[in-house]
Amino acid sequence: MSKILHRTIHANLPLAVGGRGIEMFDADGKAYIDASGGAAVSCIGHGHPEVLAALHAQLDKLAYAHTGFFTTDIAERLADRLVADSPDGIDYVYLVSGGSEAMEAALKMARQYFVEKGEGRRRHIIARHQSYHGNTLGALAAGGNEWRRAQFRPLLVETHHVAPCYAYRGRLPAESEHQYGQRVANQLEAKILELGPHEVIAFVAETVVGATAGAVPPVNGYFKKIREICDRYGVLLILDEVMCGTGRTGTMHAFEQEGIVPDIMAIAKGLGGGYQPIGAVMLGRHIYDAFASGSGFFQHGHTYMGHSMAAAAGLAVQDIIREHRLLDNVREMGELLNRRLHERFDNHHHVGDIRGRGLFRAIEIVADRSDKSPFDPACKLNVAVKREAMARGLMVYPMGGTIDGVRGDHVLLAPPFIVNAGQVDTIVERLGDALDASIATRARP
Ligand code: PMP
Repeated sequence: MSKILHRTIHANLPLAVGGRGIEMFDADGKAYIDASGGAAVSCIGHGHPEVLAALHAQLDKLAYAHTGFFTTDIAERLADRLVADSPDGIDYVYLVSGGSEAMEAALKMARQYFVEKGEGRRRHIIARHQSYHGNTLGALAAGGNEWRRAQFRPLLVETHHVAPCYAYRGRLPAESEHQYGQRVANQLEAKILELGPHEVIAFVAETVVGATAGAVPPVNGYFKKIREICDRYGVLLILDEVMCGTGRTGTMHAFEQEGIVPDIMAIAKGLGGGYQPIGAVMLGRHIYDAFASGSGFFQHGHTYMGHSMAAAAGLAVQDIIREHRLLDNVREMGELLNRRLHERFDNHHHVGDIRGRGLFRAIEIVADRSDKSPFDPACKLNVAVKREAMARGLMVYPMGGTIDGVRGDHVLLAPPFIVNAGQVDTIVERLGDALDASIATRARP
């Protein structure tokens, strides 16, 4: 009997004993294709010898140094690498242990930035419905996923939410994608004006939405408009690339495809590729300078920030992505995955949308394609898809997200950047079989 409080009690999870490349193995010797990278984490696959060597070498040298006493060569090198791989405007790095920590720090950094500048009256955060920014209280408050928030609402600081950019469900029939993007972006301006332009700290968004709605990319022009609105009112733009960042969409940062640069951003999962827990906030020089010329102190911190083993994993993973030109493979295999998903599901009665970028793809499952109505949540289709996929030796990330107040289902795919064409075919084949079996067994009225 497990003594661990697992997320789902009585989940009966298989016992993982190993991993190699894009596969994981359980104690019975069964192999699973890791087509979701866990939760979009394992970007270079499992057991990579170069990362293991880097970790051993770092462990021999130094495992931990508290950042109040020392900086370390390994953390400095990681920060240099991350900044070198980022566009101008992303100039500094704050190292933490994961995505929620990164988002908490990003939100507090934005608030303190204005305090440093003598604009302490700025107090509002605006985020979007259907978003997820982490499970700690501040990050949860920013998130707009009511299912995750509901029971904790009395503990959450007030945050304001506007519509997401979600063309499949939000675009009106008479609208072009571009018009739709401008319309939803304008909701941000309306909200800023309602709250008072001098009282808003930041707008927070996932560049490509992950866990709540499944690999939803913004429409063309949306983020340009958002950037314009933020600039007009001196509001900071915080992008959460914890899931969609560090190469997953085919560029180092997903925002590079939008022609904008945020003031502050968060990365995590693919940063250390699962070899160590690590996350980071990245920020522009203007943010850094406000701290440097002000109090000289960011009123925040965690015991394990800048951890040497985590930094060693992060640096090794990022080196491998660069040296093996893995982003080329993300783009190429991402296109192939997209094609295969369309071939398999374009005529499927229960797949309403196929979307994503790079190796960050999703299908949205609907009861009826004509009106996009989701299956009854009581079907627990996401649970069934996961079980059927695991039975077929496939790890995918199915979720029941909140769509217009209704819980709907989607399946997220985020395979390691080293995936090859044959493996892409197998992933789509097994996913199709798992989906059909789930619908047949769970969703029949
Ligand atoms: N932001 C986003 C967009 C995420 O997808 C996640 C994790 N799913 C988080 C924040 C929180 O990260 P962590 O679980 O590492 O705390």
